[in-house]
Amino acid sequence: MPRAEVKAIAAATYQQVWWPAVEDVQFEGDHLPVWEDGYLDPVTGEYLPTWEEALDELGDEPRHVVRFGAQADVKGVLGGSKDADQCIRYLGKYLTKSIGDCHEPATAAERRHVERLTAALRYEPCSPACPNWLRYGIEPKNAKPGMRPGACQSKAHKPEHLGYAGRRVLVSRKWSSKTLAQHKQDRRAWVLEILGQTDDDPSRYTWRPIKAGDASVPSITHRLLKQIGERQRWRALAQAPPPQDPSATERRAA
Ligand SMILES: [Zn+2]
Repeated sequence: MPRAEVKAIAAATYQQVWWPAVEDVQFEGDHLPVWEDGYLDPVTGEYLPTWEEALDELGDEPRHVVRFGAQADVKGVLGGSKDADQCIRYLGKYLTKSIGDCHEPATAAERRHVERLTAALRYEPCSPACPNWLRYGIEPKNAKPGMRPGACQSKAHKPEHLGYAGRRVLVSRKWSSKTLAQHKQDRRAWVLEILGQTDDDPSRYTWRPIKAGDASVPSITHRLLKQIGERQRWRALAQAPPPQDPSATERRAA
């Protein structure tokens, strides 16, 4: 794919979020909506508009528009090259880090910026079901009793996520066309194959998830190092010259 084309696609790609406005704080402190088979204003007794009703009232401007930034940097990488290894290491490093850990605030101004962002994120609605909608006089989607603005547990509000709670890699069905359940099934088939067994008789096996801290399971570090060692061994085997075919040698001798 030409780089110019990838850049053109990135430039033309955007996401619109059609959400109600959050400019007017209607409930805060002790003045909060109460639940009576739906949220209502305790002073007027009026029910708050539901999420669906609020969506019906939207204007003709989206609440958020998200685009790719100027930092899109497209590079071609050949599979199996040194560059590819480098890229995988880089991706592995940053996909397993919290977004908030990728840049350490170095100055007081930067630290204040992060604090302000975290404080603002506390009340920014993160999804249609976020309790923060109550603050702006809207009943969240799938509302239930006990919701309180500013107390949403979603990842988007946590300092280490900097407002981002989405997935940083696609769900499995998008890259392998398989669901997680199907991947589990595959792993099970793989284990059975290694054991030289078949799955004909389901009563022969018990499959159960291993609980964290199970003494019979080595630590994650140990397991990862073992996996890496195994991969290296396979790679070395794949690169080794093929074993001599004795029949070919004999033929040449003849
Ligand atoms: Zn939330």
